[in-house]
Amino acid sequence: MWKKLFKENYYKAVNYMILRSNYYNRLIKKYNSLEDAADNRTEILALQEPETIVLPEIPQAYNKIFRVKDAVHYNPFTPYCSCDEFLTARNEFTGANINVVCRHLHVFYQRNCSAVFTPAHFALLELIHKFGKQSFYTFAIDGKQIYAAYKDGNEWLHIIVEQKPVQHYGFNLLNKRWSYNSKPAFSDELEEKISGYFTVRGCSL
Ligand SMILES: [Zn+2]
Repeated sequence: MWKKLFKENYYKAVNYMILRSNYYNRLIKKYNSLEDAADNRTEILALQEPETIVLPEIPQAYNKIFRVKDAVHYNPFTPYCSCDEFLTARNEFTGANINVVCRHLHVFYQRNCSAVFTPAHFALLELIHKFGKQSFYTFAIDGKQIYAAYKDGNEWLHIIVEQKPVQHYGFNLLNKRWSYNSKPAFSDELEEKISGYFTVRGCSL
């Protein structure tokens, strides 16, 4: 009796260990170490293609080359800049996509274009220059324009609400919670919309 039980469980345990080790091997192949694998147990996947946020058109008077002291030159209208930041972004983004804006253009728009740029545009530019290029999604709730900014691999979604003054919230996609518990009045509706855009793929250990 005991022998039988021991044998059965022994085989079960061995099978279990083999399955586990296959699983870990797969993870190790994907990541560099088990520590890495443990850190990457879950990942967030965007279900929708990001939207293009296009820069507002600025006065024709700005359709010319401006030079800055470090030999960089830019045209804020087209837009164009000779700096590496712009040229690198240009490889990835076409036209007047907000993600092409480098620090030089950003400063120019802040100083000269607040009549056509909304505070939300500036909030998005701040995000880009603080955290890197973003994928944007837009929503409209209660007549308010809402931007969600997402960066691959980041569990936090930045939410910018176009209102006076512009509001900035953080929403954690993994834990479905708001940063500092600060959330917009229409958070339920927004969370429902967000859930149609992102999913969490878990590989439970
Ligand atoms: Zn530049």
